[in-house]
Amino acid sequence: MIVQDVINHLEELAPLAYAEDFDNVGLLVGDKNAKVTGILVTLDTLEAVVDEAIAEKCNLIVSFHPIIFKGLKKLTGKNYVERVVMKAIKHDIAIYSIHTALDNALQGVNDMICNTLGLTNKRILIPQSETIKKLTTYVPKDEAEQLRTALFSSGAGTIGNYSNCSFNVEGYGTFNGNDTSNPTKGKKGITHTEAETKITITFPKHLEYKILQTLFKSHSYEEVAYEVTTLENKNQQIGMGMVGELEESMSELDFLSYLKTKMDTKCIRHSSLLNKKIKKVAVLGGSGSFAIEAAKNADADAFITADLKYHDFFTAENSILLADVGHYESEQFTKNLLVAYLTKKITNFAIILSKTNTNPVKYF
Ligand SMILES: [Zn+2]
Repeated sequence: MIVQDVINHLEELAPLAYAEDFDNVGLLVGDKNAKVTGILVTLDTLEAVVDEAIAEKCNLIVSFHPIIFKGLKKLTGKNYVERVVMKAIKHDIAIYSIHTALDNALQGVNDMICNTLGLTNKRILIPQSETIKKLTTYVPKDEAEQLRTALFSSGAGTIGNYSNCSFNVEGYGTFNGNDTSNPTKGKKGITHTEAETKITITFPKHLEYKILQTLFKSHSYEEVAYEVTTLENKNQQIGMGMVGELEESMSELDFLSYLKTKMDTKCIRHSSLLNKKIKKVAVLGGSGSFAIEAAKNADADAFITADLKYHDFFTAENSILLADVGHYESEQFTKNLLVAYLTKKITNFAIILSKTNTNPVKYF
């Protein structure tokens, strides 16, 4: 197994196409063709984590946060980022970062928080738009069935709980090939009319290359007539944050104690208590102040996130309980999610959960 094989599994869970623009995800250090000796999973790649990888004979570190974020101009070892990268290269250790690709994944960071809190009726809090594409193509009528089947098996035509979705219209196409053409229907130099089916089908944007390859391979025309457009529709399968419901509603104080235990945190900073029951809960692992309005619009009774600033707490406006459980704490179970996922995908292989606590924040 090579590094790229592991990457393929990870990108099936969290395609990099859905990472945020500001982010730096993917293989940050190392050779994608290197043979993997072991995988170490961590939230942050610190020097201690690289040391752990060396001791455990792991030459691939799967890290949630990217160690290289703003770009590197020098490699002299003057700060921890440079030292980590230098040490990894020196020991032939590859580093892969999944970060916001996993934040935006349906079975990602926030699903894990929902499961930890026992939330049901889950849905994405801020669904992404412009991630669904639409393919329209024109195919000889007698080839339509075969082309549809090929497109379906490449991942097109899935909408929510429905697969094999397409819309088809019968009509006729016309064309006239020049001297250098080699038409599969009709003769060059003569305008030909062909009974055709117009197929319209949607697909998630990360599959575009695969879908187009399938189209060109399965369509008999020398020049395939097709259009790809991007839809503005919200994609309910991709996006930041989640909202779900507790099985039983709780008083605010009971909920905060429950949260403290479940999220294994020493400190929760929260907005004013509103003296109402908590049932609907929005969550967003990591820095989530940008999603306060979305949580309020979703009618959540509480919003669980991290890195809230003084002024953010005012925006609760007596309508929601904001709770900051700590950045590390909100994302800590992501490591377990990645280990469980990779263990299921890659059997009989060393996939190790890092023992290093990388939380830079201490409580007194
Ligand atoms: Zn984070």
